Amino acid sequence: MPLPDYKKLLLPTLKKHFGYDQFRTQQQDIIEYVLEGNDALVIMPTGGGKSICFQVPALLFEGITIVVSPLIALMKDQVDGLKANGIDANFYNSSQSSEEQQAILEQVIKAELKLLYVAPESLAGLSNILNERYVSCIAIDEAHCISSWGHDFRPSYQQLGFLKKSLPNIPIIALTATADKATRQDILDQLQIPNAQQFISSFDRQNISLEVRSGTEKVKQIISFVKKHPNQSGIIYCLSRKNTEELAKKLNSNGIPATAYHAGLNFNERNKVQEDFVYDTTQVVCATVAFGMGIDKSNVRWVIHHNMPKNIEGYYQEIGRGGRDGLKAHALLFHSYADVIQLRRFASGASNEEVQIAKLERMKQFSEATTCRRKILLSYFGELLEENCGNCDVCKNPPQIFDGTIIAQKILSAVYRLKEKEAIGTILDVLRGSHNANILEKGYDKLKTFGIGRDVAWKDWQHFIIQLMNQGYCEIAFHKNNALQLTEFSNNVLFKGAKVSLTRPVHIAEPKVKEKVKRTKVKRGASKTTADSLFERLRQLRYKISKEENIPAYLIFSDKTLMEMERDRPMSIMDLMDVSGVGQHKAETYGDEFIEEIMKFLGSKPKKEKKRSTHLVTYDLYKKGLSIEEISMQRKLRDTTVYSHIAKLHSDGKDINIYDFVSKREVEDVKKAKENIEGSTSLKAYYDYFDEQLDYFKIRLALSVIDN
Ligand code: ADP
Ligand code: ZN
Repeated sequence: MPLPDYKKLLLPTLKKHFGYDQFRTQQQDIIEYVLEGNDALVIMPTGGGKSICFQVPALLFEGITIVVSPLIALMKDQVDGLKANGIDANFYNSSQSSEEQQAILEQVIKAELKLLYVAPESLAGLSNILNERYVSCIAIDEAHCISSWGHDFRPSYQQLGFLKKSLPNIPIIALTATADKATRQDILDQLQIPNAQQFISSFDRQNISLEVRSGTEKVKQIISFVKKHPNQSGIIYCLSRKNTEELAKKLNSNGIPATAYHAGLNFNERNKVQEDFVYDTTQVVCATVAFGMGIDKSNVRWVIHHNMPKNIEGYYQEIGRGGRDGLKAHALLFHSYADVIQLRRFASGASNEEVQIAKLERMKQFSEATTCRRKILLSYFGELLEENCGNCDVCKNPPQIFDGTIIAQKILSAVYRLKEKEAIGTILDVLRGSHNANILEKGYDKLKTFGIGRDVAWKDWQHFIIQLMNQGYCEIAFHKNNALQLTEFSNNVLFKGAKVSLTRPVHIAEPKVKEKVKRTKVKRGASKTTADSLFERLRQLRYKISKEENIPAYLIFSDKTLMEMERDRPMSIMDLMDVSGVGQHKAETYGDEFIEEIMKFLGSKPKKEKKRSTHLVTYDLYKKGLSIEEISMQRKLRDTTVYSHIAKLHSDGKDINIYDFVSKREVEDVKKAKENIEGSTSLKAYYDYFDEQLDYFKIRLALSVIDN
């Protein structure tokens, strides 16, 4: 049971540990419900804020919260994120030695942990502590993995029913971002929590703007897009391994740091790509859909679909990886008929071919929409959006309707003259009067319709053909080499004078779209990311710390938090703690460095605080004879942070026996390195120089000796 007054503690707990001032919709209801000892099923979109729903209760329950999570790769980041907030957490999985595992069990017994992440396969190893004496709550993350209906079924999830049986009085909270009705019921059945209340949040991710463009000159468009978003992390989803590699190469040759990710890479290679992305070292990953399950990175600012996804679920999940921090993010999809044809080919012959093709059709409708795209998306998930969203390309540039009868007649008569045997590409060639080999060979240049459409651009013709298909005037015969064919309605247009309305294509190859930001207001100064902005400096500082401490940058502070720092310019720890996302622990750990950077930017010196600076507190403990481990334990800081204090104290001329921490030999090595490294003198440059063999803290300490 939680503390009796827990309701009063909810907001202070949120503020103290996570630095947030308010709960998001539903979070508080869910938390109270679980704290009362009830089972719950939470359905929230990616980035909705599910973790808080079990992490806040975990802090208020007396015992430990067990978090069952399918992805070993992600556990470390999740635990690092909690530790960065000063929360005692650990994970337990097959990547650890039996000694490590034993030590963790002891931590549980000594009540030194609030949260323990565990892979379902490893639960058996916890049998000694998996009882009501130690455990206060059980969270099942990615709960859809339990259902064979779902798309991520994990057999090891199916044995989780035993948890309710052996700990009947302990609340279970299951969480997922995807769950249709069948999956939801399956989760309740299998976890044996039939009375769990279901908390279903809206799937609307208002901060993600939606855009679809025609796929002509994709690479050029992508390069121009990425260059307009300097320093912003993004993912480009491609259909094939080859695509990912070729695209990454092209981006690199245009000066954009990009890597490819696909299932053909080995485990280590994939880890490296993922880690470099998560750590903000590479800006762009060109990936197949294999990329993303393990990505919790909150500052992905854009997601591009180089190729069309095969269904809306996939599309929504992939774009959902953008903007988890709630800041603006952009989703750009390139639409092309070639993709539709290829996806159809993939689907054909599959056991559920019909379902797959129907889903692809919905995806196609979304891409070709002339009404608010978000309405279409949400309606797919059974939600009704009353008003147009104002944050999709259709809302921003509503299509202009005109009388397209003549255009329709030209297209349909070309189809007719080509005897309904040719695919869209050839029809366009005929309309545009191209003299390519195929046309000449077949004698199409002799046709009456040849060249009647020179005045209209290729991609506009494409746009018009798509509209005609959507209106039922022609269709693709997928089983006949994708030939474009007439329908029963074509005659009305060709011979009976029926009028056809079309919409004008919007040209956005060079996006001049005026961002009428209607719903996501950008605050003053928030969007500047020029090289010299305060945001950029804070981002660099965050990057430096992330490298030193070996944790992903977004776990130190989110982009959103950095933007608020840029806007509010806190100059004291107290001010800093008013910034959303800065809890007490982070303020103590990183506060000084960030304030110093802000001061430097403003050209002033830090105010003297009444509170003793954090490195001086470390100094007091050092003088008392505590070891680095003891200091970091007592202060709940990382070892690396304490070492950085030691380096600073030494540089400041304090009495530190520096050679207790770094050998003379290592100092000499660093000195030599210093002479050899040109230009950049970042710690990272040294770290690379030593082939990652000399720890950051040692480099830092050695430099404090050399520079003195
Ligand atoms: P999910 O697991 O649902 O995908 P997360 O739990 O990772 O989402 O949360 C997404 C982001 O939103 C994280 O950066 C998290 O810190 C942030 N967040 C969660 N709750 C709040 C809140 N009440 N106020 C501000 N930010 C929040
Ligand atoms: Zn819209």
